[in-house]
Amino acid sequence: RLNRIVALDPARRRAVVEPGVVNAQLSEAALPHGLLYAPDPSSQTACTLGGNVAENAGGPHCLKYGVTTNHVVALEVLLPDGTLAQLGSPQGEPWGPDLAGLFVGSEGMFGIALQITLRLEPLPAAIRTLLADFPTVRSASEAVSAIIAAGIVPAALEMMDQACIRAVEASIYAAGYPVDAGAILLVELDGEPAAVEGESAAVEALLARAGSRSVRAASSPSERARLWQGRKKAFGAMGRIAPDLVVQDAVVPRSALPAVLERIDRIAAEYRLTVANVFHAGDGNLHPNICYDGRDPDLTERVRRAGGEIMAVCVEAGGSITGEHGVGSDKLNYMPMIFDAESLAAMCAVRRVFDPDQRANPRKVVPVHYCREYGRVGAAPRPDLPHALGEAAVEQDGGGRPRATPESTDGVAQVCGLAHAHGWRVRVEGQGTWMPPDAPADLTLTTRGLARIVEVAPADLVATVEAGVSLAALQRELEAQGAWLALDPPGRPERSLGSVVATGTAGALRHGFGPVRDHILGGTFVTGDGRAIRAGGSVVKNVAGYDLTKLQVGGFGAFGVVTQLHLRLRARPAERVTLMARGERDRLTHQARALMERRLAASALELLSPAAAAEAQWVLALEITGTDAAVAAEAGRATESAEVPWDRLEPERAAALWSAASRAPLGGDITIRLGVFPDGIDEIIDLLEERLDTGLVAAGPGRGLLRWSGAADPETLRTFRRIAAEREIPLTLERAPWDFRHALGHFGAYREGVGRLVARLRSTFDPAPTFAVALEGTGHD
Ligand SMILES: Cc1cc2nc3c(=O)[nH]c(=O)nc-3n(C[C@H](O)[C@H](O)[C@H](O)COP(=O)(O)OP(=O)(O)OC[C@H]3O[C@@H](n4cnc5c(N)ncnc54)[C@H](O)[C@@H]3O)c2cc1C
Repeated sequence: RLNRIVALDPARRRAVVEPGVVNAQLSEAALPHGLLYAPDPSSQTACTLGGNVAENAGGPHCLKYGVTTNHVVALEVLLPDGTLAQLGSPQGEPWGPDLAGLFVGSEGMFGIALQITLRLEPLPAAIRTLLADFPTVRSASEAVSAIIAAGIVPAALEMMDQACIRAVEASIYAAGYPVDAGAILLVELDGEPAAVEGESAAVEALLARAGSRSVRAASSPSERARLWQGRKKAFGAMGRIAPDLVVQDAVVPRSALPAVLERIDRIAAEYRLTVANVFHAGDGNLHPNICYDGRDPDLTERVRRAGGEIMAVCVEAGGSITGEHGVGSDKLNYMPMIFDAESLAAMCAVRRVFDPDQRANPRKVVPVHYCREYGRVGAAPRPDLPHALGEAAVEQDGGGRPRATPESTDGVAQVCGLAHAHGWRVRVEGQGTWMPPDAPADLTLTTRGLARIVEVAPADLVATVEAGVSLAALQRELEAQGAWLALDPPGRPERSLGSVVATGTAGALRHGFGPVRDHILGGTFVTGDGRAIRAGGSVVKNVAGYDLTKLQVGGFGAFGVVTQLHLRLRARPAERVTLMARGERDRLTHQARALMERRLAASALELLSPAAAAEAQWVLALEITGTDAAVAAEAGRATESAEVPWDRLEPERAAALWSAASRAPLGGDITIRLGVFPDGIDEIIDLLEERLDTGLVAAGPGRGLLRWSGAADPETLRTFRRIAAEREIPLTLERAPWDFRHALGHFGAYREGVGRLVARLRSTFDPAPTFAVALEGTGHD
C-alpha cells in the first residue's frame, strides 16, 4: 500500500515515490511532462520501484541510460532497528559518503526503502527501432561488438535466439519476428532526428557487414510497441515450451558473447535440455532460460547442474554470476566463484552495519560461514617495513618520516596490517597534486608504485588500472587504442586515478557522462587493518553482492586504500566541438536553461567565472562529442536562436579553455563542492559573493553542482556550510590544508541516521583508525 507517487517535479526532472509504485506507472505519470523513467525491466508492468532499488534492476534501455543505481538520488530508509536514515540528496550529491549507492542492490538486507527520489529523463525527440535478422547467434553477436566498438551507444541492443523467437511467435505476443532466423537483434536509437538518422545508417551498415539477412525499421509507434512486447513478454511465452522455467542471469564481456553462447549450447546438449536465449546483448547480460518440467526429479537435477556450469563458463570468461536479478538464495553458492573469503566477509560486515541482528531478509547474498570470518585478520604483521616490502620500497620523505612505496595490493596490505598492529597513523598519497600531503602521520604510504595499466579491452570498453596511474598516462594509452575515459576531474593531468576516486571529483564532463561513480565498475581496496577486499567486477553490468565500490568513490580514503580499479570506457568520439559564450552571468544561466529545455545532447555544459576560464567575462562553455553528423546537428541547434553569441573554438583554444577550467580549483587553498540544482546556481553564487567571493567558480547549469576555490578561515566556511545546509545544499570539502580539514571535515551536517552508519562503517574498515583522514571535523553534528 506504499504505492503513491508523492511528487513529480518536471522542471528539476525528479520524482519522489513510495516503494510500492509499479515501475511502468512512473513513466506513465511522467509522460505528459515529456519525461520518462529510464530503467525498464521486462517485468515493468508488475515489479515495484522498491524491488528495483533492492535489486538494482536493469532493462533494455539501461544500455544508454544506466541501471537503477544511476537514477536513484535519495532514499528514506527504515533500518531494521526501527530508526530512519536519509541517504543521498535530491540534487544527487550526498551529505557524506555515498550511502544511497551502497544501499541500492542490497537485496532488502540493509532495511526498507520507504521513499525513493528518482531522476527522470526527457523523452527523446526521435526513436528508430530496427529488427535485424541473422542466420546464426554468432553473426548477431559479432554485430553487437561491431556497433559498440564503433562508438555508437544505442538506447537498447537486445538479442533473441531461434528457440526464443519461435516461442514468442507461437504465443499471443507474436511480434512478426522471422521464425527461421538463427537470431534477431532489436536495435533502438534515440535522440535528435538528425543524429538518429546518421547513427541508424551507420548501424544498418554494420549489421549488414556482420551478415544480417534483412533489417527492418518499425514504421509506426504501434509496430515499435509490438516489437518490444515480443521481447518483454518472451519469458511468459516460454511457458509454451515446458511448464517450468529457470531464468538464468549472468554477464560476460561483450566480445566473449559468441564463444560463451556456443559453450552454453554445448552444455544444453550435454544435459539434454532446452535453452532459449533472450538478453541484453549490448551489456553482455545473458539470460539463458532453461525450460523443463519440475515434476521430473532427474530433469530438475540436470537443470541445476547445467545452471552451475553456465555460471562457471561466464565467470571463466571474466564475467559475473548476475547482471540484474541478484543473488538471493539461488546463487548464494556461486558467490565464492567471484569473491574471495575476505571480500565476502567484508560484505557481511557491511550488512551488520545496517542490520546488526541480521533480521532483514536473512540468509541471502553471502553464504553464512563467510560472515563468521571477518575479524580474523588475514595477513600476519611482519616485524618491520623493509622486511615486508624490501629495502628499496621504504625511504624517508621530506619531513624525515618513513615513506612506503608498495608495488602491489599485497604490499599495501602488508603496510596497513603492520601499521594497524603497531598503532601507527598512515597518510595515503597519490601523486600529491590535489590534496596537500600534510596530514600528521607516522608513515606515508604512496600509491606511486602502483603504476601499471593492467589491461585495456577496447572491444569491451573496459580497463583495469592500478590506483597510482595518472589520468594523463591512462588517456594517452586509451587514445592509442581508440578508447576514452570520459572523466575530466579538476586538478593537474598527472593526478592519480586513486585520488580522483577517493575524492569523487568529476569535472565538466559529468554533464554528459555522470559523476565519478558511473565510471567505476569495481576494484580492490585495502582496509586500515590490512585486508584486501574486492568489490564489483570488470563487466559493465553486475549486481553480485553489495556494491562496496560506492563506499570508496568519494569516501576520501576513510574506508580503505584503493589499489586497483576496473573502469568503464567510451569509444573515442569521432568529433569534439567546444562552443563558448561570454557575458553577464544571469544571461548565460538563462541561455543554459534554454539549451536544457531544447534537450541539447552535450557532453559538457559549464558556467565559469572569469578567472576560472581565464577570460574577461563569465563564460558558458559547451562541449559536444559524437559522430560527425550528430555533432554538426547539435552544434547547429545550440547556436540557432541563441540569446548570446557563441564562438566555436579551434581545437587548441578549446584545449586551453578546458585546461584552465581544470586547474582553476587549484587556484585557492580550499576547494569545495556544493550539491545545488541547476535552478539554484544563481542564488548560491550570490551567496558566495556575499559570504566568500566569486573568484574561482565552476557550475553545471544543466545538471547542477558547483565548485568554488579560494581562501577562507574555517569558521567562515563552517558558517557557510550551515547556511547552505539550511537551504538543503550539501557542502563537501574537496581539498584544503590539514588544519582546515581537521577543523571542518570533508563532510558535515549529516542528515538523519547518516552519522551513526558512517561511524560504524569506518570502524568496520579502519578499526584503529589507521588512516589519517578527517571525514568529519571537530564539533560536527
Ligand atoms: C518475467 C520477468 C522479467 C524480468 N525482467 C527483468 C529485467 O529486465 N531486468 C531486471 O533487472 N529484472 C528483471 N526481472 C526481475 C525482477 O522483476 C526485478 O528484480 C524487480 O526489480 C523486482 O521487483 P519486485 O517489486 O517484484 O520485487 P520483489 O521480487 O517483491 O522483491 C525483490 C527483493 O527486493 C526486496 N524489496 C522489495 N521492496 C523493497 C523495499 N522497499 N526496500 C527494501 N527491499 C525491498 C525484497 O525483499 C526482495 O528481496 C524480471 C522478472 C521476471 C519475472
